[in-house]
Amino acid sequence: GDAFDEECDYLFKCVLIGDSGVGKSNLLSRFSKDEFRLDSKPTIGVEIAYRKIKIKHKLIKAQIWGTAGQERFRAITSSYYRGALGAMLVFDITRRATFVSLRKWLHELREFGNEDLVVILVGSKTDLEQSREVEKEEGKVYAETEGLCFMETSAFKNLNVEEAFLEMITKIHDITS
Ligand code: GDP
Repeated sequence: GDAFDEECDYLFKCVLIGDSGVGKSNLLSRFSKDEFRLDSKPTIGVEIAYRKIKIKHKLIKAQIWGTAGQERFRAITSSYYRGALGAMLVFDITRRATFVSLRKWLHELREFGNEDLVVILVGSKTDLEQSREVEKEEGKVYAETEGLCFMETSAFKNLNVEEAFLEMITKIHDITS
């Protein structure tokens, strides 16, 4: 539920952003429920998932907001980012266009997000290595240039998903405590 749990020390709101179809919903379901959906439909509106994580003896409730079709729902943008401490910016390593879009997403993040928002850049779908259009090195260099953390994941194979979320949540914890 969305009521704040008495036993949790912190509630961290994080948002997932990136072009439609990059795999945001599957990253969210993998992290919150350990599920992968092959036939997943683009999310309409906002999906919110929760998970409790223990970091350095503190119990953290991560509240992760996911959405697709933000272009179609401009009105939700400011409420989407409001109070967010972390953002996972996702592109699909098999579609260069989603990498090119990062600039636009960063612009939106900097317009609507908190100044000290922790941003982690994620290159998704590494199981589709044969269709790769963005080299790992390019992602890494881009992230360094923009001052972001970077990781490549596969929600399908469950590779690095946990690590990516944990990196984001640990960074937030380090900043806020
Ligand atoms: P969203 O629009 O960003 O939320 O993207 P979805 O999570 O709905 O995923 C879009 C499509 O990509 C779906 O068909 C997913 O099954 C597929 N997909 C998502 N993650 C992966 C992945 O890690 N590997 C592969 N092969 N497909 C994925």
